[in-house]
Amino acid sequence: MIDRYSREISYLRLSVTELCNLRCRYCMPEEGICKKAHTDMLTEDEMITAVECGAILGVNKLRITGGEPLVKKNILSIVERSAHVPGIKEVCMTTNGVLLPEYARDLKAAGLSRLNISLDTLNAEKFRYITRVGDLDRVITGIEAAEAAGFTNTKINVVLIGGFNDDEICDMAELTRNLKVNIRFIELMPMGDDTSAFGPSAYIPSQRVLELLPELIPVPSPTGDVAKRYRFPDGKGHIGLITPVSNHFCSTCNRIRLTSDGKLKPCLHSSTEYSIKGLPKEEMLEVMRNAIWSKPEKHDPLSHSCRSGAGRDMNQIGG
Ligand code: SAM
Ligand code: SF4
Repeated sequence: MIDRYSREISYLRLSVTELCNLRCRYCMPEEGICKKAHTDMLTEDEMITAVECGAILGVNKLRITGGEPLVKKNILSIVERSAHVPGIKEVCMTTNGVLLPEYARDLKAAGLSRLNISLDTLNAEKFRYITRVGDLDRVITGIEAAEAAGFTNTKINVVLIGGFNDDEICDMAELTRNLKVNIRFIELMPMGDDTSAFGPSAYIPSQRVLELLPELIPVPSPTGDVAKRYRFPDGKGHIGLITPVSNHFCSTCNRIRLTSDGKLKPCLHSSTEYSIKGLPKEEMLEVMRNAIWSKPEKHDPLSHSCRSGAGRDMNQIGG
């Protein structure tokens, strides 16, 4: 569907749970979150109906996210059923990778097209620090499991945090010289309460990557990709820069988000939400149509002092 600013909305991000097995400092409170009543959350059938409504309105790409999607018990069934919805060409997933050793093969068999795996550091101690509880080896094993299961074009998402991992930019980028991997540097976004502990120096523009690596050359990005792509002249993989803070991409935003408690969010950084929980399909379709039509032209500028207006932490939205 075309929105009122002539953007074609073709990408639905479905958060299947707010829960997670990590506690990343920029995304989740240390104590985790209060589990909401089961009855307040979308059922699997409602999620699939929402995907069907999206497809009727022109969505062809679905990303399953969370919280951590792989802690959701019925995740394989959600993937499999979504992949069979007419009109959905691609079902992708963003995961922290911890449970991929157990799930990679079954996800592939269920019809998952591609994976984005989040990994902010290659140092085990720093990984434990930023995730509060995580074990780096598990994620590395998860990345290997994804490859062994036949996933290709896997992307590694790195949230750039000044004073934490900016000293690893070159090492991470170097991985793309000999490996066919896509490393994507994402600017830290000032969400909810979780990022307020990060001082102004944590917000570094991804332009820093190009300053450190002037030999990178730009390459065309696939249509609809928010990352600007680069590679080393002799590189096998790619480096992507995602700039939600230094240079927002609202004018080409093709996405709509659905939270696990059934709220459609036309814009990540706005608290405007439309509830679809409990609605029959015809009504859900109308609410989704209205939500897409109401998608704002752009969000306010973001910075350490201008916080996101999302009204939720990132674990409740899905990135
Ligand atoms: N648990 C999964 C994971 O970590 O990949 C999926 C959900 S997570 C909310 C989705 C993405 O959002 C991850 O790549 C994560 O690093 C990113 N993210 C979370 N909070 C962020 C923030 N404040 N700024 C930028 N990216 C953030
Ligand atoms: Fe969990 Fe992903 Fe948030 Fe980290 S970024 S706490 S892995 S939902």
